[in-house]
Amino acid sequence: MLFGASALGLALTGGAFAKETKPPPKPQNVLSPDAALKRLMEGNARYVDGVSRRHDFKHEREALAGGQNPFAAVLSCADSRIAPEYAFDAGRGDLFVCRVAGNFAGTETIASMEYAVAVLGAPLILVLGHDSCGAVDATLKAIKDDKPPPGHIPSLVDAIAPAARAAMQQGGDVLNKAIRQNVIDNIAKLKSAAPILNAAVEQGNLKVVGGIYRLTTGTVELIAQG
Ligand SMILES: [Zn+2]
Repeated sequence: MLFGASALGLALTGGAFAKETKPPPKPQNVLSPDAALKRLMEGNARYVDGVSRRHDFKHEREALAGGQNPFAAVLSCADSRIAPEYAFDAGRGDLFVCRVAGNFAGTETIASMEYAVAVLGAPLILVLGHDSCGAVDATLKAIKDDKPPPGHIPSLVDAIAPAARAAMQQGGDVLNKAIRQNVIDNIAKLKSAAPILNAAVEQGNLKVVGGIYRLTTGTVELIAQG
């Protein structure tokens, strides 16, 4: 599918876009934002309980060759322990996943989410932080030491710094507070991203929520809804 202005324009008019295209390859993925969140959390419960479904990739491959209609988009950390498709017991074509260390929404990620929402029709974005996030920890250290980390890592630190600073001012369990605040900040950033995501939220076609992945149990705890 072309990612052009016309496709976006059609997508923004809501139902008109769907009528212009062929039937979605996964009709079961056409969900309201609330139903999408429910399905995501039911998948996480199966994963936590060790009863994940068998995913028949061979059977799905042909249907998905001609298109995609994921029921949720996820912005997660690049941390190798997170793996959103596993954590939500999802198949191919179900989740549109953007991953970057520190799960923050930079320009390319916002653009990717705009594509997921406006062109692919995803009704939900989940910002997923996690316990013991190295990117958030590195940001806290860089601020404390007043010394930028090596290489290109300062670009991560700059993005996470507002949440890290807010947590440092509060004191207590600063790492966990910064991880949580970073999710909250990026929910706000995605919800207000003009002109596409903010309009989708206002029209009720999109919800942006956040969660924390608990490393020991695999549980995703939702921390904000709206
Ligand atoms: Zn992380």
